Amino acid sequence: MIEQLHVRQLTEEREESLSPNAAKSRNSKGRERKEDSDPIRTCFQRDRDRIIHCMSFRRLKHKTQVFIAPTGDHYVTRLTHTLEVSQIARTVARALNLNEDLTEAIALGHDLGHTPFGHWGEDTLNELYDKSFRHNEQSLRIVDLLEKDGRGLNLTWEVRDGIVNHSKSQYSVFGKQWGEVGTLEGEVVRISDMVAYINHDIGDAVRAGILTEKDLPQDAIKVVGSRHSQRIDTMVTDIVKSSWDVRVNDIIKERPAIKMSPEVLAAAEKLRSFLFTRVYTPNMESADAANAKNVVVFLWKYFNKHADKLPAEYRLHADTTERGVADYIAGMTDQYALRLAVELEG
Ligand code: MG
Repeated sequence: MIEQLHVRQLTEEREESLSPNAAKSRNSKGRERKEDSDPIRTCFQRDRDRIIHCMSFRRLKHKTQVFIAPTGDHYVTRLTHTLEVSQIARTVARALNLNEDLTEAIALGHDLGHTPFGHWGEDTLNELYDKSFRHNEQSLRIVDLLEKDGRGLNLTWEVRDGIVNHSKSQYSVFGKQWGEVGTLEGEVVRISDMVAYINHDIGDAVRAGILTEKDLPQDAIKVVGSRHSQRIDTMVTDIVKSSWDVRVNDIIKERPAIKMSPEVLAAAEKLRSFLFTRVYTPNMESADAANAKNVVVFLWKYFNKHADKLPAEYRLHADTTERGVADYIAGMTDQYALRLAVELEG
């Protein structure tokens, strides 16, 4: 019956009215392992569902964004961050007539590879593991391999590309990137990630008593607004306006880009570097950070020494013990890592 309804085909046909610059599910470069199409959902809708149902996604709720294993209920976690990115990105994608399903799938999967203890965990693992550790590469490793007992989620090329290329350098949002994103939907997620964290990290820092609204650089605040919701709104509206040419109906030779106006971008960059100076860097030197680092170092040494104690699934899918240990630690939530370290230390 459903087969006869051709629901997916109808959705795919509707996608033809999207921007000529949008990624159409029908034209996807496909999956590593070929699969039959779903009668109802497009390939990108299916990818989104696979991400939502995977174990790594569930664990995001107990992973640090900025404040380590915070006791307050209102701090942002990796999960709420991910949901905010997804919502902002979908708003932008819909306004620009891009593929909202693809955008959502990339957004929901972009941070799956984050370690416990946020960037402290990531940096420590990167120091310990001689092959280098980056959360965006780990996100890809999770969806390609680690989920579903080593089979991975077998996602489409477009979602995988958006996930691995979402990272920005510390110094510039549009400067040297991790990699070029292959779709505009991926670009939308990358910029929405920044809009989300600049705003919620200010909120969390105020909540933690590290700063007050008055401390924020006032020239930037004049541009983006003095309230949380205003700031997000200014940035989102500005992205839509500045990127409007991606929506147009004639094929443009050179692919247009997702961007901000120079004025709003300068304000966003200013807030971002302010956060580095006032919040992220001092946080790196805090007692919490030192403790988090000790936990990661301890677990790293312990499991490299006792490879037999590593859960089987992390031995099976890794070429080396170090790779398996990195996968295991990266997958832990803050609480799990803390608990395990205490348990093993006796
Ligand atoms: Mg993120």
